[in-house]
Amino acid sequence: MGLSCSLAGVPFLDGGMWALGGEIRWFVPDHASCFECTLTDEDRKHAHERQSCSGFSNQTLDAIAQPVPSTISTTAVIGGLLAQEAMRHLYGWEVTHGEAIVYNGLTMTMHRTTLPRDPNCSCHLPYREVIELNSGVAETTA
Ligand SMILES: [Zn+2]
Repeated sequence: MGLSCSLAGVPFLDGGMWALGGEIRWFVPDHASCFECTLTDEDRKHAHERQSCSGFSNQTLDAIAQPVPSTISTTAVIGGLLAQEAMRHLYGWEVTHGEAIVYNGLTMTMHRTTLPRDPNCSCHLPYREVIELNSGVAETTA
């Protein structure tokens, strides 16, 4: 999803959580880091192992030793922040990009952290401009 949004020039709002914490991150094309900049080599390896949109390959599932629990309060905080940020974007208000807003439920604190832009990231080049042809599918072949 992050790669497709980056290449298409569409902002991407990401959120994740663990038992007592979570974070939200905006990725706005042509600014700061993209989603792929934040991935480790291990993350990329697992991303390429996906079999479908509904799940991971059996190999990936075997690599996850324990399920990660989340609490309903953490889910509510992160879900609420995601909804608020989405509404801010829809109203045309400025959103923060290049940073993560991190919630720590153990200490009941929130902070921002910068997401570094990877200068070697291969995902910063957008799709080229679409060239429309004056012919239909029946007259055109690859
Ligand atoms: Zn990137």
